[in-house]
Amino acid sequence: MTHAVETEAVSAAACCTVCGGVGERLGRFSDTFYRVTDYAVDLYRCRGCRSDFVWPLPTQSEINGFYPSGYWREQSGRPSLMTRAQQAYIDFMLKADLMAWIKRLALPQGARLIDLGCSRGDWAALIAAAGYRVEGLEGDPRAVAYARETFGLEVQQGMVDDWAPPPAGYDAVCLFHLLEHVRDPRALMGTIHRALVPGGRVLLRVPNRHSWQGRLFGRHWKGLELPRHLTLFEPQALQQMLRDAGFSVTHASTWSLRDGPPAASSSLFRQGEPTWRLINERAGGLPIVLYLVLTWFLAPWEALAACFGQGAMTTLVAVKQDG
Ligand SMILES: [Zn+2]
Repeated sequence: MTHAVETEAVSAAACCTVCGGVGERLGRFSDTFYRVTDYAVDLYRCRGCRSDFVWPLPTQSEINGFYPSGYWREQSGRPSLMTRAQQAYIDFMLKADLMAWIKRLALPQGARLIDLGCSRGDWAALIAAAGYRVEGLEGDPRAVAYARETFGLEVQQGMVDDWAPPPAGYDAVCLFHLLEHVRDPRALMGTIHRALVPGGRVLLRVPNRHSWQGRLFGRHWKGLELPRHLTLFEPQALQQMLRDAGFSVTHASTWSLRDGPPAASSSLFRQGEPTWRLINERAGGLPIVLYLVLTWFLAPWEALAACFGQGAMTTLVAVKQDG
């Protein structure tokens, strides 16, 4: 009888999605940023690796309800001049940021890549334009249709947790703002390891809650984005998880001009944040200008944080090790 009770207590303990360790409850959190779901989750901090994770994990059908129309930038009607100018600026920043990382992969022209959780395909299309064979995987059928029709991308529709790739089928796998959303990141890294050729690369980016701005803004930090983010990786724990999955980390940075300063400005002034504006159907105007000014004002502070390894985004390149 005692044994049965103990077994139940162990199985009910909050289990870290990064290292399997036991967590301590930080509190109950809801969608305070976009406010598109009433679903609330309990967040825990792992006693072992200090990553934060949601426990118990929501079911896949519950997770599907966390993503509103507009989350992947669905546009209805003709956008205003200011909104189009903002989108052009976002696209420019994305290209500069993304291609610097693609170069670090040191892949030959024609290499085969897949972008997991590719959304409407903007990132994958940029990589394809640079001369690589790029595929995508995406769960949202509207985003899949957009990526196929707009960019002519080969995109499979499906959930990343159910992905069953061909063995040794890819030279590189990209995960931009994806790993924090999946229910079992360790299992996914194992799947990716099998999907890669020997010496294949992984490029991934996740928010860094342990950054200066993540700690400063606390539960109001944009990068927290609960309940959609299920794991908030401590940067060293993320690297250890990759090593455990059979990878060697070759590049790591917490600096991102595209994503770091906007995470701070969004935390202070959500009315200027592009996705918030789409969800709330706000037209262009003064908030966009204020948001841009605020973002550039905060950029030097975020750069300083990144100099100390405390920037808001963790970006890694890792290489598959044999054996
Ligand atoms: Zn842990």
